[in-house]
Amino acid sequence: MRILIISDIHGNLAAMNAVLEDAGVVDAAWCLGDLVGYGPNPNECIERVRSLQNFRCVKGNHDAAAAGEIPLEAFNLDARLSAEWNQINITSENLEYLSSLPSTWTENKVTLVHGSPRDPVWEYILDWYSAYLNFPHIPTDICLVGHTHIPMIFNLEPGDQEEFVWMQVPSGREEVSSKAILNPGSVGQPRDQDARAAYAIYESELGIWEAHRVVYNVSETQALIRQSGLPERNASRLEGGW
Ligand code: ZN
Repeated sequence: MRILIISDIHGNLAAMNAVLEDAGVVDAAWCLGDLVGYGPNPNECIERVRSLQNFRCVKGNHDAAAAGEIPLEAFNLDARLSAEWNQINITSENLEYLSSLPSTWTENKVTLVHGSPRDPVWEYILDWYSAYLNFPHIPTDICLVGHTHIPMIFNLEPGDQEEFVWMQVPSGREEVSSKAILNPGSVGQPRDQDARAAYAIYESELGIWEAHRVVYNVSETQALIRQSGLPERNASRLEGGW
């Protein structure tokens, strides 16, 4: 199966559409959460991804915040103001959909979470050590995560004395180890100083992870954010990828 892996769309429809066009025909689409959050088109993004064939999605912290499930004090100011804006501007049907998302999903021997296997909504896996601590909590061989907005691969390798974690920034086609944690990066708000939308294609039978970046119309999303009354930083950060 050729599976589109997306995460952290954050209501950025221009980026979402660029990714879908670039990815072409896929057998399934799996999303690692945060459909909404900082961007101006949460409803359109939810409706667009729900129309995809064989779509699966887990809940992110911003999805839970928009659905009113977690206290907004847990967020920084921009994220909190954005969550309040989302609570007002997302339709009740779409809020119900966000609320219905599971925090963990297992399919074809792969586990999907937003943050980490041991803390699906909140923990960031940013370094080899947090990955190492999380490997025992994965019920399958492969775990897909989002949340950090940074594309990354963590492979668990057998060593002489004990297992160790090999961490790498993916570029192009990568062979996935028998035990790995993989992050496709963010569609709608990349944070690795690269403004292009990030996604991955996972070829499940071959065990291949293909990292992709695609240029999208950043100024279109920025203009919509500025018209919408969302925080200015939600717009300005997009062109620098931070
Ligand atoms: Zn996010």
